[in-house]
Amino acid sequence: MAEAKVIDGKAVAAELHGRVADIAARLRDEMNVAAGLATVLVGSNPASQVYVRAKARACTAAGLGSFEFSFPGDIPEAALVAEVEKLNADDRIDGVLVQLPLPRHIDTHRVIAAIDPAKDVDGFHPVSIGRLWSGLPGLVPCTPQGCLILLRTVHDDLSGAEAVVLGRSNLVGKPMAALLLAANCTVTMAHSKSRDSAEICRRADILVAAVGQTHMIKSDWIKSGATVIDVGINPVALPDGKSRVVGDVDFAAARTVAGAITPVPGGVGPMTIACLLRNTVLAACRRRGLADPPV
Ligand code: NAP
Repeated sequence: MAEAKVIDGKAVAAELHGRVADIAARLRDEMNVAAGLATVLVGSNPASQVYVRAKARACTAAGLGSFEFSFPGDIPEAALVAEVEKLNADDRIDGVLVQLPLPRHIDTHRVIAAIDPAKDVDGFHPVSIGRLWSGLPGLVPCTPQGCLILLRTVHDDLSGAEAVVLGRSNLVGKPMAALLLAANCTVTMAHSKSRDSAEICRRADILVAAVGQTHMIKSDWIKSGATVIDVGINPVALPDGKSRVVGDVDFAAARTVAGAITPVPGGVGPMTIACLLRNTVLAACRRRGLADPPV
């Protein structure tokens, strides 16, 4: 059997960065609008610092304004909410991203709910979630949006496809299911309490794995010719003391069965920041009553 097509997330993300940069330039040149993203970092979690820096760098590279705000790990919840409200009121800022996780003394839901939904570029605000499930335009969470864009590189039409989403987090699994449903797939969600995840996955034309379990999905979980999107990012230690990341899918084995598959790294990962930039230019246009740009 022929090996699966490998979906090149890096290349698709690079194209999206290019489209965002074009739109940012047009907004600047034709409308005198400088679209901008604010990141909010609380505490000194090294991984969060890396993510926030990467987001800021990507903004600058695409010609978007980048505003970085850092607060001590012991900032009171009410003070953080007040800072978010300041960003809501700041007209230079089109997107507000609060880097998660937040310290334990802070109610994450309360902080996210404080973001103006028009600037909710992570798509985690209850209004954004409600709009997504209601089929209304809104800002969609970046990782599932990136998965959908990758799927569209393989499938012009997803209508009627059997889609299985493994994992039901608010960040990935649930919004992924909503997007696939909106694309007219027949959607099944599986999770840690599902009775036979392997059997459920085997009926999928489209399989999205977002469980955070190293190589859990084996080749005999995959229907011949299926498209497999691997969201997992799992660090594994190497004998030399270094580490690398692998996905939730046993890529080498799955490649002999699937029709198309995303690698880890280089699949879904690069799409997440690209979709954050996409949401920022969408928010910049919508806040000003402009039509959605071709992004
Ligand atoms: P999460 O919040 O930990 O959710 C994991 C989900 O997987 C849960 O719904 C859980 O079920 C389910 N699950 C865990 N073990 C399972 C099993 N043995 N069988 C069936 N379902 C199982 O994780 P997440 O935030 O959704 O992230 C998932 C993975 O994607 C992680 O590796 C994460 O690092 C990665 N990720 C990547 C990106 C990217 O940009 N590429 C972005 C976000 C996340 P229950 O609900 O029953 O517990």
